Amino acid sequence: MSYKIDSLLIHGGIDGDETTGAVNVPIYQTSTYKQDGLGENRGWEYSRTGNPTRAALEKLIADLEHGKYGLAFASGLAAINTVLSLFKEGDKLIVSDNIYGGTFRILDNVFKNFGITYEIVDTSDLDAVQKAISDEVKAIYVESPANPLLTVTDIAAVAEISKKNDKLLIVDNTFMTPYLQRPIELGADIVIHSGTKYLGGHSDTISGFVVVDNKEIADRLYYLQNAIGGVLAPFDSFLMIRGIKTLGVRMDRHVENAVKIANWLKESGYAEKIYFPGLESDPGFETQKKQADGPGAMISFVLDKKYDYKKFFKSLKLVTLAESLGGVESLVCHPASMTHAAIPKEIREEVGIVDELIRLSVGIENVQDIIDDLKAAIENSKA
Ligand SMILES: *Cc1c(COP(=O)(O)O)cnc(C)c1O
Repeated sequence: MSYKIDSLLIHGGIDGDETTGAVNVPIYQTSTYKQDGLGENRGWEYSRTGNPTRAALEKLIADLEHGKYGLAFASGLAAINTVLSLFKEGDKLIVSDNIYGGTFRILDNVFKNFGITYEIVDTSDLDAVQKAISDEVKAIYVESPANPLLTVTDIAAVAEISKKNDKLLIVDNTFMTPYLQRPIELGADIVIHSGTKYLGGHSDTISGFVVVDNKEIADRLYYLQNAIGGVLAPFDSFLMIRGIKTLGVRMDRHVENAVKIANWLKESGYAEKIYFPGLESDPGFETQKKQADGPGAMISFVLDKKYDYKKFFKSLKLVTLAESLGGVESLVCHPASMTHAAIPKEIREEVGIVDELIRLSVGIENVQDIIDDLKAAIENSKA
């Protein structure tokens, strides 16, 4: 389909229902399908293997990411688990030095036990990536912008390294969504999403995705999806299709609000450090501009020493203290004790995830209301 992305969000994948003309894909709440005779089915056998509602969503996410094959999972981590299952004992992965805490946890406490190892590398440093390449390395796993320090990695440049050395490039595109960044176009082999965040967009559904363009990798992943079984349910698939329809308008507003808030925070002098690739002063600004259609809406910051971050969290009224991100409502979290608690303190501090770090997921509320709430909470938190 040659529609532009804002139209694809609404009409991509399988548009409506052919049988009845319903404008929405029906929820096929069924575990199994009648077979007309032995070995004669109508394309559907069992809903772990395939379900029409999930299939519509899988085609939609593939269309959006400009890949040929999409897979939907019960969570982002179920998607990551399935992708990591491509590897075997003795294989090693290079991973970005600030990644989602749960990704670190599954690498460190699950796959390491099966003999699959990892090396943490600052993937924004291309020399460091090149240096870490060895025979055992089978893939490079990148988040850009990364969680929670919003470090930007030049995806096309890392793709060049991975291709030259015959490695796979895996990109977690959760923070950007295909509306802002399409890693397959930049040379990635496998794109991963937590659909729980912006794609769903309403903090009401846990889901995950994988998109690939290569048939061989797709076949392996479909096999693993069915073999491991962490698939997305029909009703949740429907909710994701519904959420994705408004992704464009939501992302425009998320980004507009985030840019205003980051600039306000910078000018206010309240913060000692601000991490946001939409600020010209951010080291990732140029690369972000080159590879994505916006800076996203995640801002991390450390308040000036005058302020007590614990008091700040307690003083917020509109902005909610909670895990997760990407919903219509503004959320803050404390990475050190929440999203990134699975990472040992030494490693956390080494990469900059200090105890004072605050991560803000900017919602689509009135931007002045968000700023007023942040300001009041900061003023109230003088140590
Ligand atoms: C939330 C998140 C995940 C994990 O997804 P779940 O849906 O919570 O399992 C993976 N990567 C990133 C960047 C995330 O933010």
